[in-house]
Amino acid sequence: MESQTGAPRGPYHEVGDGTRAVRAGLPDPVKYEPTLPGPVFAAHFHLPGEPTGPYTYGRDTNPTWTHLERAIGELEAPGRAVETVTFASGMAAISAVLFSQLRAGDAVVLPDDGYQALPLLREQLTAYGIEVRTAPTGGDAQLGVLAGARLLWIESPSNPGLDVCDIRRLVRAAHDEGALVAVDNTLATPLGQRPLELGADFSVASDTKGTTGHGDILLGHVTCENAELAAGVRRWRKIAGAIPGPMEAWLAHRSLATLQLRVDRQCASALLVARALDGRAEVSGLRYPGLPDDPSHAVASAQMRRYGCVVSFVLPDKEHADRFLDGLRLVDDATSFGGVRSTAERRGRWGGDAVPEGFVRLSVGAEDPDDLIADVLRALADAAR
Ligand code: PLP
Repeated sequence: MESQTGAPRGPYHEVGDGTRAVRAGLPDPVKYEPTLPGPVFAAHFHLPGEPTGPYTYGRDTNPTWTHLERAIGELEAPGRAVETVTFASGMAAISAVLFSQLRAGDAVVLPDDGYQALPLLREQLTAYGIEVRTAPTGGDAQLGVLAGARLLWIESPSNPGLDVCDIRRLVRAAHDEGALVAVDNTLATPLGQRPLELGADFSVASDTKGTTGHGDILLGHVTCENAELAAGVRRWRKIAGAIPGPMEAWLAHRSLATLQLRVDRQCASALLVARALDGRAEVSGLRYPGLPDDPSHAVASAQMRRYGCVVSFVLPDKEHADRFLDGLRLVDDATSFGGVRSTAERRGRWGGDAVPEGFVRLSVGAEDPDDLIADVLRALADAAR
């Protein structure tokens, strides 16, 4: 099919985030074709003769992935030639980087306060003869265990503690050691932080969260600039088979069009919610990188473009936190974050995170902020009785 206009329209790197989000990854216009072509459901493609690409077998390639991968790449690193590989989930994306890059005898540095599946990965990596070192995100503590490592894994802001490390500084130190750097950018989304511009080799995310933002699909991606690294990740996807479904990939691309609207609304509301919580007697350990007096604020401001939609805080005990969560009407008691519908949960209920029993992670959605704040303050008042 030919473009009706001649010149290709993308990529959109000299425009604002909203414009880029609505146009990212769209193919050139073709008369009578939709703007965003529908999902292509195919296990195999017609392939007479030599089996060359672009589309051969459905575990290797799919045109719906191609559009989405271009779109995410444009958002991750506008104006740069990057490659994105999408996956069935965030964990599939994370595993692809770790297992495609590490060999027995290598050392890897993980955060000890990151997503709670990292300890499971640690067990698996150790079983494969890989040395796993850990250190906290805050205070750039991973610097202390970098010597001789092959890969540094950063999660900033960390989930659920919302600590931030100086990514540029860690990248410099890791590269000096000959180590690659991957950043889990799930919490920030590509509009909140651009790890490749900060020097990282891989930007990785669970797009289950804010990037798709509707709480209805699981998806992940890896973006990198180095073609050899990208090929390793792509090869791993082919081996592990952790591929996104075409429907999920298409829904994700459709959702990207509203990314800037959602993220701007959610970040602005998160700051208002954090301010409303600030100073309340029953609330301690309040964290939101956008609050000027948050311990993460200075570093976050130097490397993030938006501070995210997650606020965390501690209520006096488990019962107090459960009463609060139970009393919320506009906030679902559910795990995950980044969606248009606010969610909150007591993280201690899972075990695994080193947090107090009363620790609450609140993900701010796209509701009217006044409604949300009123709901949170009313539930807090009721929980205190
Ligand atoms: N990374 C972070 C920071 C997460 O919070 C999560 C899930 O909560 C993941 C990765 C894993 O993503 P998924 O559930 O899409 O596999």
